[in-house]
Amino acid sequence: MQEFKVDVAVIGAGTAGLNARRSAERNGASTVILDPGPYGTTCARVGCMPSKLLIAASERAYSARGSGLFGISASVKIDGRKVMTRIQKERGRFVKWVLEAIDDLRKRKLLIPEKTSFVGPNLLQAGQCLIKAKTIVIATGASSVIPEPYQGLGNILLSHENIFELKDLPKSCLVAGGGLIGLELGQALHRLGVRVTILGRHGVIGPLKDPRVRKEAKKIFSAELDFYPNHKLKKIRKTSNGAEVSFSDSRGPVKKRWFERILIAAGRRPNLRSLNIHHAGVSLDKKTGIPEFNPETLQIKNAPIFIAGDVNRYRAVLHEASFEGEIAGENAAKYPKVKPYERWIPLSIVFTDPQMAVVGKSWKDIKGHRGYVCGDVNYETQGRSQVMAVNKGWVRIYGEVKSGRVVGAEMLGPRVEHTAHLLAWAIEQKLTVFEMLEMPFYHPVIEEGIYTCLEDLSRKMKHRKTYKN
Ligand SMILES: Cc1cc2nc3c(=O)[nH]c(=O)nc-3n(C[C@H](O)[C@H](O)[C@H](O)COP(=O)(O)OP(=O)(O)OC[C@H]3O[C@@H](n4cnc5c(N)ncnc54)[C@H](O)[C@@H]3O)c2cc1C
Repeated sequence: MQEFKVDVAVIGAGTAGLNARRSAERNGASTVILDPGPYGTTCARVGCMPSKLLIAASERAYSARGSGLFGISASVKIDGRKVMTRIQKERGRFVKWVLEAIDDLRKRKLLIPEKTSFVGPNLLQAGQCLIKAKTIVIATGASSVIPEPYQGLGNILLSHENIFELKDLPKSCLVAGGGLIGLELGQALHRLGVRVTILGRHGVIGPLKDPRVRKEAKKIFSAELDFYPNHKLKKIRKTSNGAEVSFSDSRGPVKKRWFERILIAAGRRPNLRSLNIHHAGVSLDKKTGIPEFNPETLQIKNAPIFIAGDVNRYRAVLHEASFEGEIAGENAAKYPKVKPYERWIPLSIVFTDPQMAVVGKSWKDIKGHRGYVCGDVNYETQGRSQVMAVNKGWVRIYGEVKSGRVVGAEMLGPRVEHTAHLLAWAIEQKLTVFEMLEMPFYHPVIEEGIYTCLEDLSRKMKHRKTYKN
């Protein structure tokens, strides 16, 4: 057994881990990073980037098919092999940049390519290496969960971890999960000519919690997709070339369908269990399965251990994993002088069509509180959206009556990836709805929908104040 001593050991070479190591090194610590691979990060290899590449292809097909509305005729023929080839080629470029960074670490002998677990406080085992570290950063990410009924279906199962490796698009695909991954990939496959059924549970539609916005989302997605947000699975039978699936929902009798492939998109579980973190005297919370940690320092209780990225389930999105890596790396290097960082407001975006986003406080945070009101806009009649025939969606912006400040939004609509940023920045700047209404809004733009929504919010705020007085 080889033994090493180091200031900061980072477990996991994904976005959070690579950033944590860099940040620890910048702050004067000796470092090592432990990861058996595959390298390239979830984001570039099997997450954000290949999923957006698939969506980009589906958008081309969808808009060409819909061009008749504008008096333009186009015929669409989808070559699944070429679609997958482009995804893999472009994805390869994103992954290459990470692999170059990994190679550099290997050359500097800062990478141990082994699966790692705790064998004591401050002590890790990675293959034949024992690493004694002053502090440790856990950045092991998360993995897809395969729900019990789907286990044992073997090679017909797909997940985000292998779907982008396919040589060709399948003819049909059941998507198990109506969350953000299920809806993004399910809609993209559907638009690329795959026969798709999406089975969700508990009425979940992406990240949306607001009942008004969710109702609109259900209406819009169910109109386009074979989508059951609240299904009951009856039976799955493996056949020689796929699986036969029976399910029901409140809409009617049991349906039986055959699918060539099943895409599992039923949530991701933190990669924590195999770390044997109890050897470091840390226990996992029985309910969440995560150790108790401070989101501003990322320290686990008073232990010399930090936890960053998807593994802590705090905010499983890329920009937060990256920021958390910075925080955890710096604090690990400076331990025991640990500094709290003010966190950004939450921002998550789903690249369906229409897109979905949650910014700042969500419905869950404000429901039942009399101190908040919401403004609404229905995108059906929004000018620019109508011009472009993308007039679908509903946006709700929440405001705090006492301060007049905009505090959050749940959004479904065209280009909300952009309008969500405007709102996020305004909320970070602590702007009131009245200050936002004094800003310029060009005409005709999709952002005018946000103006309409803010106007509605300001009216309701004034009314609530008058009403209270
Ligand atoms: C399909 C999909 C689409 C997404 N789209 C978006 C998007 O559009 N926008 C967005 O912001 N976010 C998106 N995300 C989320 C985003 O990809 C993640 O938040 C981010 O990649 C998490 O980074 P991470 O460093 O925490 O984990 P990862 O990048 O997964 O890194 C974890 C690393 O830990 C290693 N590891 C695991 N166990 C061990 C062990 N025992 N020992 C050593 N090493 C170990 C793994 O090999 C891996 O390299 C998407 C995710 C998915 C799955």
